[in-house]
Amino acid sequence: MAINKIERVLRDQVTQLTQKLSKITQAEEIYPLRSLYTGKESELQKALGLLKDLPKEERPTAGSLINATKRELEQAISEKLTKLLSEELAAQDAVRDIDVTAPFHVNMPDVPKLPRVGSLHPLQHEINRMLTIFTTMGFTPFEGREVDSDYYVFDSLNMPKEHPARQNWDTFRTEDNLIPTPHTSNMQVRVMRKMKTAPLRAVIYGRVSRNEAIDAVHGHTFYQIEGLYIDKGVSISNMIATINAFVEAFFGRKVTGKVQPGYFPFVEPGIEYMGQCPFCEGAGCGSCKHTGWLELVGAGMIHPSVLREGGFDPAVYSGFAWGLGLDRMVMQRNGIQDIRSLFSSDIRFLSSAV
Ligand SMILES: [Zn+2]
Repeated sequence: MAINKIERVLRDQVTQLTQKLSKITQAEEIYPLRSLYTGKESELQKALGLLKDLPKEERPTAGSLINATKRELEQAISEKLTKLLSEELAAQDAVRDIDVTAPFHVNMPDVPKLPRVGSLHPLQHEINRMLTIFTTMGFTPFEGREVDSDYYVFDSLNMPKEHPARQNWDTFRTEDNLIPTPHTSNMQVRVMRKMKTAPLRAVIYGRVSRNEAIDAVHGHTFYQIEGLYIDKGVSISNMIATINAFVEAFFGRKVTGKVQPGYFPFVEPGIEYMGQCPFCEGAGCGSCKHTGWLELVGAGMIHPSVLREGGFDPAVYSGFAWGLGLDRMVMQRNGIQDIRSLFSSDIRFLSSAV
């Protein structure tokens, strides 16, 4: 093929492409044209293949003609493509109803939604609420220890070795004879020695372990919150009033309380505080197991030997301590039937329980 024929073919290609591009209105229609006019099977590529058959002196001219045509074709395609894409974007923007106050995904329905943001565990949420109630009442929060020695778990709490009450806290032992704490009272003497002076107001929260078979209302691991109040002239009525104020703040309504004797070796006397069920007002419902009453708090006046162990003279000071099982109160407040749900990883339960 002579050089002038090649030139005609190439000019013809540019004309054809220009005509076709002028009729196109959608960006996606351009892509087949690009392959047709610049791809492997295009007239442009065929012309390149013919170069070797031309006389030597004509080859540079023909080569630069082919390259110039290639640039011209590519530029025509890319200009048209840019124009159509920007028109399409502008059209989308024009119909999109943007609400600048709405979350991102409302304005951008085509963009995948953001992953769910996590929330506090229901137990942590309740711990925070309880601590807020107690700190508002002037109590200083302390976090418990998950393992401790015989001394703090039993001896310091008026339970020397062989004391029968130790059996009430049937628990585990680690290989080096530490105890996963069965109650948060192991912190009592520690807190007394740390705070040193009266009036002493402390609230202790933590995870505790018991050697229990697991069922819907018992777990081997659960949470307790415990309080201590020591000063001169503290009485049982101070204790009951404090517990009642807390219980009413926790349930967010008036609660009628009653006390009955209870035994804990580190208090004397010991009581159990029952609250009339705030959900059925004593009539009986699922939350109170149809008894009309909720067993809420174990409490008592701190035993003189525990006060002495913590550095307070029982002839001068008195005080009270109370403790409660957090999980049970959370279950009661939220109508949760099975304690095991609190330790499951079911996100539907965890995000809806509180
Ligand atoms: Zn009830």
